[in-house]
Amino acid sequence: IEVPDNPIIPIIHGDGIGKDVGPAAQKVLEAAAEATGREISWMRVYAGESAREKYDENLPDETVDAIREHRVAIKGPLTTPVGAGFRSLNVALRQTLDLYANVRPTYYLDGVPSPMKAPEKMDMVTFRENTEDVYAGIEWKAGTDESEQVRDFVEDEMDFDGIMHEGDIGLGLKPISEKGSKRLVREAIDYAIENDRDKVTLVHKGNIMKFTEGQFGDWGMEVADEEYPDEEVFAAPDSLWETQDEVDIPEDAVMVEERLADAMLQWMQLRTDEFDILAMPNLNGDYLSDSAGAQIGGLGIAPGGNFGTGRMLAEPVHGSAPKRAGQDMANPTAMILSGRLMFDYLGWDDASDLIRDAVEETISSGKVTYDLERQLEDAEKLATSEYTDEIVDTIEQLS
Ligand code: NAD
Repeated sequence: IEVPDNPIIPIIHGDGIGKDVGPAAQKVLEAAAEATGREISWMRVYAGESAREKYDENLPDETVDAIREHRVAIKGPLTTPVGAGFRSLNVALRQTLDLYANVRPTYYLDGVPSPMKAPEKMDMVTFRENTEDVYAGIEWKAGTDESEQVRDFVEDEMDFDGIMHEGDIGLGLKPISEKGSKRLVREAIDYAIENDRDKVTLVHKGNIMKFTEGQFGDWGMEVADEEYPDEEVFAAPDSLWETQDEVDIPEDAVMVEERLADAMLQWMQLRTDEFDILAMPNLNGDYLSDSAGAQIGGLGIAPGGNFGTGRMLAEPVHGSAPKRAGQDMANPTAMILSGRLMFDYLGWDDASDLIRDAVEETISSGKVTYDLERQLEDAEKLATSEYTDEIVDTIEQLS
């Protein structure tokens, strides 16, 4: 998107360890912007605890309006208090702004502890549909009149008699729409084209859930087939059942293929380097992106962002880790790398590369926060602020 060299970027530091990692990320992003001849005008906005203190509400209009207007923003984690009636603010933000694609780049940084034999082969980006599927929240509690009414309707009117067990039953719906599926797949394909990626894999369980997951696959292949020229995007025929070894793919085209979700979890571990961009309905996306994240260092490292309708909100995958809050010990890497994703969206590739190089150099020299230090031999445990300063110094040296 078109932005000035000194854009206004709304930032929510967040709850819990957000108070540690939010300012840390801000410092690193500022240093990388400055080193590449740019300036960021930050706009502090509030949500969660800090918004309750300042405005007496969880998600002030000012915050939502700022993100809507400035189009690119970054947030730290927000606590969702346990208990009835409290909607997740993260979900509320994504829904209000219609940020329908949750995007997580999964790549390995030298020096990070990993359970894999060859973690450096991992370089994937997952696109998870953010608004529907079994996470849409259309559910009926067991033992209520509503769940009995739904059961009666499904058994008697819809002809599914004898499938559900007798007695109390919880029920839910799994909406997967043409609009929701197609716009997610489009986002993934556009990302693949813009970032010179080779392949988009649609991951679903369409052999069992034909009219939801299967339809996701069909709609996704339709987008690939009908909306892009063949030289640019090649929809691989029958890729669910047949190997594509013999398929003649136009040079430079992005191949779009399908895989079943259970098999995909396995391939992700065993043939990591064969995959590139994954596009998935909500539930598959949740499981697969967490699993991919664990392969390259886990929560302290895993960056993410929410995209849609010409906007992006960067946010780390992790939560507010209340036990570690305010102790200057949390790992800010995930939020820093989420900022990198924001820079990519702005087209600030040089600043983005600089951040990656500086983070990688710092970690591989053994200077890390507590979470990585306890998994590494001969590493030095740094506080959040010390680790941040180390990265900023490295940015200055590298530029
Ligand atoms: P969590 O991610 O906060 O913590 C899980 C574990 O990972 C903890 O042991 C924690 O210490 C560790 N951890 C997480 N981030 C870390 C970091 N940057 N550095 C070092 N260690 C880190 O998950 P949780 O405990 O399930 O959730 C706590 C709160 O966060 C809940 O209120 C939850 O709703 C919220 N949450 C928010 C988001 C979000 O804002 N997007 C995401 C997940 C959870």
